[in-house]
Amino acid sequence: MKKNKLTKSDLIHFLQCEDQKELDKLFNRAYQEKMENVGKKVYFRGIIEFSNICSKDCFYCGIRQSNQKMTRFRMTEDEILECAEFAWKMGYGSLVLQSGERTDREFIEFVEKIVRQIKKISNDELGITLSLGEQSKETFQKWFDAGAHRYLLRIETSNSRLYSTLHPPDHDFQYRFQCLEHLRNVGYQVGTGVMIGLPGQTAEMLAEDIIFFKKHDIDMIGMGPYIPHPDTPLASKVKKFDKKKQLTLGLKMIALTRLYLQDVNIASTTALQALHPEGREFGLKAGANIIMPNITHTKYRDNYKLYDGKPCLNENAKMCRVCLEGRIGNIGEEIGYNLWGDSPHFQKKQKK
Ligand code: SAH
Ligand code: SF4
Repeated sequence: MKKNKLTKSDLIHFLQCEDQKELDKLFNRAYQEKMENVGKKVYFRGIIEFSNICSKDCFYCGIRQSNQKMTRFRMTEDEILECAEFAWKMGYGSLVLQSGERTDREFIEFVEKIVRQIKKISNDELGITLSLGEQSKETFQKWFDAGAHRYLLRIETSNSRLYSTLHPPDHDFQYRFQCLEHLRNVGYQVGTGVMIGLPGQTAEMLAEDIIFFKKHDIDMIGMGPYIPHPDTPLASKVKKFDKKKQLTLGLKMIALTRLYLQDVNIASTTALQALHPEGREFGLKAGANIIMPNITHTKYRDNYKLYDGKPCLNENAKMCRVCLEGRIGNIGEEIGYNLWGDSPHFQKKQKK
């Protein structure tokens, strides 16, 4: 493999490769690339999943509006601020606010207020990433003005045909894509990503996803394996779910994205850990450099199940940090405490 010169057919080749020796070489090469571009510091983004109320109906997601088996919750302002304060005191540097998608005025104002409050209680120190789905450009601007500086909106797949098999007809691929442009124009660091191993998804489509990230100058990537949730329509399309294969495909995507984009931030997501207890460490070894510890109140975690087998449902946030320190130390990496940890890709653009 020539350095940094992966072609689309190379990407497809590795996505299809089953030779463990060749794959180990790929993961090592991606790890090297990570060392050269972003170093061995792992940055934390404490994630607060503050509500599972959602107005959308994505076919794969456990908290979709039509899933009546799900008990709905929303955390109060005080509860969210308590979690944010915890993240700040623990030196996490940065947090993510995530929830189901809502575009009503009450929600927009609630988020705006929360963002302002978090900035205030943390002396402006905590970085804030939002992951609240598709919104109008005005709403993105309002939340940016309140103090949020990163936004994570997965495109889910860059293939519009596949997208339409995963969503009801009124979920518009073009608008989701346009949101990424709005976010960039407003001034956010833009994160996107895809689900990996979806029914109907081919190696070529995954290769095109990686090319999409590069073409659209994405600063941070959050992607993870698709995991069926039994109370969703998409789960019925999965004949036999092969955890190991799905995990390996997720790791290949991380490694290839590191090699193809080099200096971006890549998250080692919880879905990897749902497939293997050490899934997130494998992700770091394959080229990822971000971990998102869950700091949601334990009492709500059971109801934020986007997919089956979500780990750490009973582990409180303190235990989570101790556990992560051990895991990260074990693989010879360090934690970047009290830092925002912007990607070198984004920093380079700022200097231009
Ligand atoms: N509502 C917001 C944020 C919450 S959902 C949004 O949709 O953008 C966050 C992510 O969870 C989604 O982007 C999707 O990629 C992922 N997700 C949902 N269901 C999943 C499943 N069954 N397996 C893996 N990831 C899933
Ligand atoms: Fe709602 Fe996001 Fe789940 Fe879609 S993926 S149903 S928008 S929470």
